[in-house]
Amino acid sequence: MYDFLVVGAGLFGSVFAYEANKAGKKVLVIDKRSTVAGNIYTENIENINVHKYGAHIFHTNNKKVWDYVQQFAEFNRYTNSPIAVYKDELYNLPFNMNTFNKMWGVVTPQQAKDRIDAQVKEARITTPKNLEEQAISMVGKDIYEKLIEGYTGKQWGKPCSELPSFIIKRLPVRFTYDNNYFNDKYQGIPIGGYTGIIEKMLEGIEVRLNTDFLENRDEYSSIAKKIIYTGMIDEYYDYCYGELEYRSLRFETEMLNVENYQGNAVVNYTEYEVPYTRIIEHKHFEFGCQNANEVNNKTVITREYPAEWTKGDEPYYPMNDEKNNQLYTKYKTLSDKEENVVFGGRLGMYRYFDMHNVVDEALKLSEKLLG
Ligand code: FAD
Ligand code: UDP
Repeated sequence: MYDFLVVGAGLFGSVFAYEANKAGKKVLVIDKRSTVAGNIYTENIENINVHKYGAHIFHTNNKKVWDYVQQFAEFNRYTNSPIAVYKDELYNLPFNMNTFNKMWGVVTPQQAKDRIDAQVKEARITTPKNLEEQAISMVGKDIYEKLIEGYTGKQWGKPCSELPSFIIKRLPVRFTYDNNYFNDKYQGIPIGGYTGIIEKMLEGIEVRLNTDFLENRDEYSSIAKKIIYTGMIDEYYDYCYGELEYRSLRFETEMLNVENYQGNAVVNYTEYEVPYTRIIEHKHFEFGCQNANEVNNKTVITREYPAEWTKGDEPYYPMNDEKNNQLYTKYKTLSDKEENVVFGGRLGMYRYFDMHNVVDEALKLSEKLLG
C-alpha cells in the first residue's frame, strides 16, 4: 500500500511527490506519457535543449518559489523579449516604447500616451467587456489590429470580442524602452533543460510511465491511501456534467543546417493568415549563438500551430471563460466531497497556470497534507 499515488509526472505531480518522499511517505508516480515532466519536457538534440511542448520561461515574483526551484538546477539570466512580425513589419514585445516608436514614430512616453488615449476615446470604451475592448483600452486600435487581433483569433479559435479580458491582461504595457516580456523580479531558463529538474525531483521515487490511471482505475484507486490527480478533472468524472473546453496545439519541429535561423528565441507571427502563432529557435534560450568559438552549425526550430481540441487531443490550455468556469465549479464541488482524491495542476484545477503558480499550489498542498 502506498501513502500517495500521484497521477501525472508533470511539474505539479513531481513537486508533490518530492515533498511527500522527503517526508518519508511511500509514493508511486504514474504517467500515461512515455516521458516525465509533462508539458515542460525538454529533449537534448544536437546539444540544444528543445522545449518539446512550446517555449517555457520560468518567471516569478515569489521568492519562495524561485529559491525552491534553484535546488534542482542552476538558472541562466535569460530574459524573454519576443519579436512580433506583422506582414513585412517587425515590432518589439511586450507593448513598450520601442513598439510605440515603430508603430507611430513617437519618441516620448507622453506622445505615446496621447496616441493611445485618442484611440481609446474614439473607440468609446468605458468599461472593457471582452478581450477586444480590453486590448484597445490598453494600447489603442492600431496595435490591437496589427499585433493582437489576428494572433489572438488564431490562438483561441474565436474572435477577440468573444474572449475574456484576463488573457490579454497577462501582458505588460510599458512606457519605457524595456523589451522584457515579464514584470517579475526573477526570470531564467534552467541550464541543461527542464527535464533534469523533474528527474531530480523524482530521484528515489517509483515511477511508472506509459500508465494511464483511467485504464485501470479500480486497481490504481485501491493501491494508495490518497491520490493526487493532475489529469483533466472532467475526464476523471467521465464528463458527467459535460465537457470542459480546452485549446490544443500542434508542434512542427525541424533541425536546420544553419547556425542562426531567426536571431531570437521567440518570434510571433501576428497576422491571422499565417497559420502558426510563433516560431521558437531553441538554442537562444541558452545563448547558443553568443560564443563565436563554439559555433554549432545546426539549429532546431518549432512552429506552433493552434488547434481545436477534441477528446483525445492534448489539452494544452483550459478555456477559462465564464461558461467553462461555471462548469468547472460543478466538478470542483463534486471533487470537494472526495476523501481520498485531491486534484492539482493546470488540468486538475482547470486554470491557466504558469509554472510558478503550479509550484506554489503544489507546495501549498504539500503543507496541507504533509504538515
Ligand atoms: P502537465 O504538465 O500537463 O502534467 C500533467 C501530466 O499528467 C501529464 O504528463 C499527463 O500525461 C499526465 N496525465 C494526465 N492524465 C493522466 C492519466 N489519466 N493517467 C496518467 N497520467 C495522466 N508556464 C510558464 O511559467 N512559462 C512559460 O513560458 C510557459 N509557456 C507555456 C507554453 C505553452 C505552449 C503551454 C501549453 C504552457 C506553458 N506554460 C508556461 C505553462 C506550463 O506548461 C504549466 O504551468 C505546467 O506545465 C503545468 O504543469 P502540470 O503538472 O499542472 O501539468
Ligand atoms: N498575444 C497577442 N499577440 C502577441 C502575443 C500575445 O495578441 O504577439 C495575446 C494572445 O491572446 C495570448 C495572450 O496575449 O493568448 C497571452 O500571451 P502569452 O504570451 O502569455 O501566451 P502563452 O505563452 O500563454 O501562449
